Amino acid sequence: MRSVKLDNNDITPSKIVCVGRNYANHISELGNEIPDNMVIFLKPNSAIGHQLRSYHQETLHYEAELCFIYQKGRFSAVAIGLDLTKRALQSNLKAKGLPWERAKAFTDSALFSDFVSLDTIDDELALALLVNGETRQAGTVAMMLHSPQAILKEIQSFIELEDGDIVMTGTPAGVGEIVTGDIFAGQVRTREHVLVSKQWQAI
Ligand code: MG
Repeated sequence: MRSVKLDNNDITPSKIVCVGRNYANHISELGNEIPDNMVIFLKPNSAIGHQLRSYHQETLHYEAELCFIYQKGRFSAVAIGLDLTKRALQSNLKAKGLPWERAKAFTDSALFSDFVSLDTIDDELALALLVNGETRQAGTVAMMLHSPQAILKEIQSFIELEDGDIVMTGTPAGVGEIVTGDIFAGQVRTREHVLVSKQWQAI
């Protein structure tokens, strides 16, 4: 089983639960509608990867997301993650009303910085993604259509979370193709300081 780092300890999630369409500006950029119900999908443990690939059967797209680890009834830690997506295939599957796993749950489709412990999640908690030094994505908890607490409640209404499971909370506007050689720098910040950052070079 694959692991992520939390405060220098290895955590092995049984699954990754992902929220889709959680920022209005990203819903607009893909031409989607605001859904009646929260959009939730899963990635398996085998989706946890360490290398940022630009291609896997087709060109991959990035989605930077605030990610939380669930422990003892609450979100206890945060990281920045990349939800890697086969956008062309996903569009095809969506058009046919078919499940997204082929486009979203493939091996190495979820990358994470280290996780850092968090006491409370406030509205100022923010992510930033820079590609080659230029800001491509920025989002805060305040911009989410569904708050982390609402997400946790909704997931637990039908999926049991195990300690160590990861929840990816959706991506703000600015998603795009991954190009070989590009340098991706992600960070999670509060108003005052950077909590954690991570750099990947696309291969
Ligand atoms: Mg996503």
